Amino acid sequence: MNHPLSNSQRRDAEALLHPYANAVALRANGVQMIERGEGIRVYDETGKSYIEGLSGLWCAGLGFHNAELVETAREQMAKLPYYHLFTGKSHETAVELAEKIKELAPGRIARVFYQSSGSEANETQIKMAWYYNNALGRREKKKIISRVKAYHGTTIVSASLTGLPYNHLDFDLPVERIRHTSTPHFWKGAEPGETEAEFTARIVRDFEEMILAEGPDTVAAFIAEPIMGAGGVIVPPEGYFSAMAEVARKYDILMISDEVICGFGRTGQWFGAQTLGYDATSYSMAKQLTGSYLPLSAVGINEDMAEVIEKHTGEIGTFGHGYTYGGHPVGCAVGIKTLEIYHRIDAPGRVRALAPRFAAHLDRLAGHPLVGEARHTGLVGALELAPGKSPKGFATPGKLGPRLAQELLERGVIVRPIVDSIAFCPPMVITEEEIDELFAPVEAALDATEAWAK
Ligand code: PLP
Repeated sequence: MNHPLSNSQRRDAEALLHPYANAVALRANGVQMIERGEGIRVYDETGKSYIEGLSGLWCAGLGFHNAELVETAREQMAKLPYYHLFTGKSHETAVELAEKIKELAPGRIARVFYQSSGSEANETQIKMAWYYNNALGRREKKKIISRVKAYHGTTIVSASLTGLPYNHLDFDLPVERIRHTSTPHFWKGAEPGETEAEFTARIVRDFEEMILAEGPDTVAAFIAEPIMGAGGVIVPPEGYFSAMAEVARKYDILMISDEVICGFGRTGQWFGAQTLGYDATSYSMAKQLTGSYLPLSAVGINEDMAEVIEKHTGEIGTFGHGYTYGGHPVGCAVGIKTLEIYHRIDAPGRVRALAPRFAAHLDRLAGHPLVGEARHTGLVGALELAPGKSPKGFATPGKLGPRLAQELLERGVIVRPIVDSIAFCPPMVITEEEIDELFAPVEAALDATEAWAK
């Protein structure tokens, strides 16, 4: 570090303000320029290769050079490079992709609405929840309950739903009507002597008490990721979601499943809600929907929401919401091809078959003195570093996680540090041998991190 910046690093520093980065540190250390991709690997500008242990941003499920997707985009680009869905226009790729999404969630999704990003999908979700309740004459029923450590995006409302300090700090967020209930993380959140079942009951009680304190007639929806991703890959305890869904039902509260990471096989089923055992009123999808080769997101709503919303558009004249690029034909064509490939390789089945190998590595590494907890479901997981394995964490959090990620980077593996956890979410096309390669340098990197900390 603090080596002279390369020409491209200097140009970067003069040209870009980076998301999720400390611009002052970047200016001193320089960015890492990624030049090309192949399979589960990416290559930097010096030609060094890295296993992409997080699929970019939990998204490139088919890896980094799928020729079929490239060709599909080229063909669609040549046929109809752009069209929209506003004011009664449509196009075949948008319809076909929506039909295919509906087929993945039979009985759960009746209509699909498109945007370009996960944040926009959740923005749509909240606007739909408000519109739906206005249509039903429930003008007070508008608050949304999210969770501490949730990640739902960075636009004004989706960032408000996100329950992480950096997404609010100095952005004057969260906005009104958004609340955050407890995180379902047993290892970290349990009180001394509390069993997992007691912990779950307490967390669910927190949710119900929040609804009662706010007034059930003022609460519109509960939004949750099946497995919390950017909050640290937090896998909820057994029975959590069925109990939360029951409380939501009791107070007539919509249940929004944010499948932006978990959707399309990642957890071993098409949707995370299926793996975690609950039914939502609506689903947010993005990232793996197109393998992230193009930006596209979708919101799927159930029959009841669809009926109420459609009827209301007839009463007030329009559904005044939409994005220029929502349902972009090239994105939709790539989405159709992506789903075709997921079916062909049986992505959920493939993840279920690979999951034991992935889990075994993480569980083995949990024995390292620096690791407090290993968490995983399907092909998403994390290791949380902790002093003496204590869930209380470090006195100065957020130092060792980034250090470990740096040690791994130097050993040819890209992972995401999340405070003192590191997250793994490799492309779903990874093989068993490549899973071994992904984890091969972790123990040495942990040792080096431990030595550095002393
Ligand atoms: N929801 C979840 C669960 C996510 O993980 C993310 C991004 O990581 C988002 C929403 C926001 O998606 P985007 O960055 O495409 O706006």
